[in-house]
Amino acid sequence: MLTENAIETNRNCIPSNPRFFVHFTLAGGINMDYISTRGGCPAVDSAQAVLSGLAPDGGLYMPKVFPAFDWKACLVGTSQQMSTAILSALLPDIPRMETLVRRAYTGKFETEDLTPTVAVGPFQVLELFRGPTSAFKDVALSMLPQLLTAAKEEKGITKEIRILTATSGDTGKAALVGFQDVPGVSIQVFYPQGGVSQVQRAQMVTQEGGNVSVCAVEGNFDDAQTGVKQIFTAFQGKELPFLLSSANSINIGRLAPQIMYYFRCYADLLNRKVIALGDPVDFCVPTGNFGDILAGYFAKKLGLPVGRLICASNANNVLTEFLTTGRYDRRRPLHKTTSPSMDILVSSNLERLLYLLSGDQALVASLMEDLSQKGYYQVPEELLGAIQKEFGAGCCDDETAKATIGKVYKEQGYLMDPHTACAWAVAETHRGNAPMVVLSTASPYKFSSAVLSAIGGDVSGSEFERMDRLQALTGVPIPANLRSLRGKPELHTDVIPKEQMPEYVLGR
Ligand SMILES: *Cc1c(COP(=O)(O)O)cnc(C)c1O
Repeated sequence: MLTENAIETNRNCIPSNPRFFVHFTLAGGINMDYISTRGGCPAVDSAQAVLSGLAPDGGLYMPKVFPAFDWKACLVGTSQQMSTAILSALLPDIPRMETLVRRAYTGKFETEDLTPTVAVGPFQVLELFRGPTSAFKDVALSMLPQLLTAAKEEKGITKEIRILTATSGDTGKAALVGFQDVPGVSIQVFYPQGGVSQVQRAQMVTQEGGNVSVCAVEGNFDDAQTGVKQIFTAFQGKELPFLLSSANSINIGRLAPQIMYYFRCYADLLNRKVIALGDPVDFCVPTGNFGDILAGYFAKKLGLPVGRLICASNANNVLTEFLTTGRYDRRRPLHKTTSPSMDILVSSNLERLLYLLSGDQALVASLMEDLSQKGYYQVPEELLGAIQKEFGAGCCDDETAKATIGKVYKEQGYLMDPHTACAWAVAETHRGNAPMVVLSTASPYKFSSAVLSAIGGDVSGSEFERMDRLQALTGVPIPANLRSLRGKPELHTDVIPKEQMPEYVLGR
């Protein structure tokens, strides 16, 4: 099947003439195999990989080979053209990619370049929070619904897809906005009652859309997440009026859209003459589930001259330890920090890296078995060496993050959130010869308490009062989507015990 704008081509022959670039979409029918990192199930095509999310053997889907890709041609496009080229190459069985990308992003972000890069002191800051909910997850969750519905159509599936998501704050709202009124899909978000911030709650409970529902669960985030997982298990193989799916970052359709901003950033540095074509650029990434940083490694596999990728963690430094010693040990307490989106013990997407750098599915399967049975695994020396050639790591506690926000604001006049501050602090200890890009994953206004206290402001009052105070103090404007929350009607006020979650899902 050919797409509207398809030109005769195959994936080994990508036009490098930029004039062709706009019209270049790989058509469906060019098969690219996706295989499980654990090797326990057959290969599928890219549309099926997006539909399935997790592979049936519990592994994650990966392209069997990375496609040939003209990365230089990709650098001359707009951000949407970059996305189209990258996603067409990686997900060739999903047709009309250009249209999907347009629907996902046009008019939704603060700027049409989607993810601007700004020079701040010694670093470049790649701002990923200019989307509809002021969270970096917007980049992926704006695109995933388009990929999912197109994959569904490609496979001739007519049943509704029901997205279930448990959220500790940011993912829920970004997913709600991404899926709002997308035909053939509905979404239900569960959040822990009293476990999200006032602004995060307001973001979710005011969500409009005929296909969305939001419900508080009595309990903490783990209760909500366990509830969702149990629903997936309990409903498996049952005849339901919908197909269950999730919006979490194990889906290749959520990971792939994140590659674009590494290209965008590289092109911006090129245009600003910070680098010449081919020069390496290092990236320091505030990391939780390892999706953001892995997208940087995918960009490198597609040819982009990515130098070192530095993995920044907070006090939950399981990844720092792993990248230093080769031992991954989840048997430790989870610390609550001022950068909650990085409070994580098991980084699911790391499994993809283990596969990519070892090429050994049996090894990955046995490491994951160790993690689940014993709570830890140790990678072979050779694999650790391969990982350390590409990745650095460091961690930053709350106190250092706070001091970093204060220092950078005082010295550079730049305001950042605690997640970004972790990456900044780690970047300072990893400076090499290449320019260093710090990825910024949240608006400072999503964490106004921590940010205010870091710059010496008064933290009393409601979160909305703190946002106002932060704006008055710094002159940095409150993002429109957050400012407009105040006074919006609350549309979703259900609160249920976690035992009632299955009924709740079936009843809607
Ligand atoms: C999700 C998130 C992260 C972590 O990204 P991963 O892809 O899970 O590593 C970092 N910062 C913020 C603000 C986030 O929302």
